Amino acid sequence: MSSVFDCKMCGHCCEGKGGIVVGPKDLTRLASYLHLSEELVIERYAEYSGSKLKLRNADNGFCIFFAKDQGCQVHAGKPDICRAWPFFRGNLIDAESFAMAREFCPGINKEISHQQFVEAGLTYLREENLLAHNAKQEANALLL
Ligand code: SF4
Ligand code: SF4
Repeated sequence: MSSVFDCKMCGHCCEGKGGIVVGPKDLTRLASYLHLSEELVIERYAEYSGSKLKLRNADNGFCIFFAKDQGCQVHAGKPDICRAWPFFRGNLIDAESFAMAREFCPGINKEISHQQFVEAGLTYLREENLLAHNAKQEANALLL
């Protein structure tokens, strides 16, 4: 994996609103990690957007769990979508999206082809059980 992707902890992907979907499995994991009930996790850290639960942002535009200079504060409990980046559906099925992701994320090896990225990504998503199956509650980016 490190020849294809090696996170540089820059935090770019933790900025921006509405992208971090918390599916049922994610909510259970986060609640366990934070030693809180699922209801309290929702109340304190998330909000519904239609049928999907998403992490809130802090006032600085970053995810509510992102701390400057320290990164993700819930690393071991973070949602699947955070575990899956940069292997999102769009980047796997569309070479132009992949090219943009490669510019955006310094962790993606600049030398690899889209095909190499796709092969490594699909293997990773399957091995880590990150593919989604529920379009109403899980992230579209993980539906393949
Ligand atoms: S943008 Fe890429 S390198 Fe930066 S924190 Fe996110 S995954 Fe890591
Ligand atoms: S949960 Fe962690 S990895 Fe995911 S967006 Fe928030 S700070 Fe980043």
